[in-house]
Amino acid sequence: MASEESWKEKYLQALSEAERHEHQWQTQRELLERMLVRTSLASEGQRPELDSLLGRLRSDIRRQTIDVETWRQLQEQIDRQIALLDDPQPPATSHVPVSEQHKSVVAGDSTDISDTDNRLIIARRVGQLLGQLLGQVTLGPEAEAKARELQNTLLSSNDWSVLRQGLNQVAELVIEAVTRSQREFEAFLKRLDDRLETLRQHFSQQSVTQISRQDDTETLDREIRDELSRVSDDITKSQDLDGLKVSVSQRLEFIGNALGRFRLREKQRETLQSQQLEAMQHKIAAMEAHSEQMKTQVRKERERAMTDLLTQLPNREAWQERLSFEYNRWQRYHHALTVAVIDIDLFKRINDSYGHKAGDRVLQLVARELSSRLRTTDFIARYGGEEFVLLMPETSVEDAVVVIDQLREYVAGLPFHFGGKPVTITFSAGLSELVDGDTEDTVFDRADRALYQAKEAGRNCAVAN
Ligand code: GH3
Ligand code: MG
Ligand code: MG
Repeated sequence: MASEESWKEKYLQALSEAERHEHQWQTQRELLERMLVRTSLASEGQRPELDSLLGRLRSDIRRQTIDVETWRQLQEQIDRQIALLDDPQPPATSHVPVSEQHKSVVAGDSTDISDTDNRLIIARRVGQLLGQLLGQVTLGPEAEAKARELQNTLLSSNDWSVLRQGLNQVAELVIEAVTRSQREFEAFLKRLDDRLETLRQHFSQQSVTQISRQDDTETLDREIRDELSRVSDDITKSQDLDGLKVSVSQRLEFIGNALGRFRLREKQRETLQSQQLEAMQHKIAAMEAHSEQMKTQVRKERERAMTDLLTQLPNREAWQERLSFEYNRWQRYHHALTVAVIDIDLFKRINDSYGHKAGDRVLQLVARELSSRLRTTDFIARYGGEEFVLLMPETSVEDAVVVIDQLREYVAGLPFHFGGKPVTITFSAGLSELVDGDTEDTVFDRADRALYQAKEAGRNCAVAN
């Protein structure tokens, strides 16, 4: 019975693991889909044919009708369209109406430079999104290394033919990531199925044994009753004591044999059962070890999905989760809660003047300094790019401004050096405290607007709203 209980528990555990896995896979998939939608929107406006293919891609995503094979074909068509972007359109031919000819010449004149710029912007954006993606999905080591190299190319190369190849590889990588997660989930379901089959076999063996025991008990019971009633008949009808002795002892011998047979079969059953039990115990031990392994893996994957790769700070997903948590607490207890949005000033210049790697180092350092100087109850996350967000529980906006100003002065005083030159890094901040009627979004929007005011006011300052 006890083993049956523990089996039920294992079964329920296995089911909840399956649910957790499915949830995780779903999150990864949504992220990939979002990334594709954004990338495709960013790439619009180059060729109508390309726009229509990208439109199809988004509508597939929206309607959840993604089929890997169809998408491979779609990808090939998109590749062809991207390749055509490099071949300048031949000058307008005679069958194009004059008005259209005029348009295309004008467009041709003015788009040369901005086309190149647009492509670079798209490549950089895809590079950033790829970075986010890498932070959240698990790829094989080889694919991961390839993806990192790809990300660097997209973020730093100015050579369009290299970038074009890189963009093609992104699509392959996304497909690889999706199929990998899918394969992992399928493998997990298969293992779960195997376990349930083992479980089913165990119970069916137990029930076969139980039925045979019941049958044997009934047979034994019937045989004993029959013999006893015959003994009783013999006693009633018998007139001869010796004859009676013989027949009674024969009947007792028969009962003895029946009992012997029963005991033998019972012993066989017990041996079989203890073998089955031992086998099951081994399986349980193996399953428990595996389940521990899986739990660790799930925990690691969750941490990974919630952490920004570059700065190791909690990422935007983690921020949303914490914001909801603190918001719910605030609704219940109404203790002060302040939200701050921090944005590094003129960060683009750092990248442009000293390179993307230098920019990354600044982000890492600022993130480290900010998080190490905050109270443990405060929460900081990288919201994206050079923006950080803070949640300061039990803190009024007036007190929060003091804290943020101290941080701001500290960061402004950090001795950054690039190419031997000292460089000052500053940030601007917008703060807002939760007030009655607020939602998670309204307070964030107010803080964001305050940040904008801080930028307008000349940067390197904090504004409360
Ligand atoms: P402002 O003071 O108005 O905020 O100016 P800004 O230059 O900081 O703002 P803008 O939004 O124009 O530029 C932000 C730059 O941050 C552009 C983008 O290339 C860069 N960036 C975003 N994410 C990363 C990253 O992960 N690494 C590096 N190196 N740069 C990044
Ligand atoms: Mg910004
Ligand atoms: Mg900025």
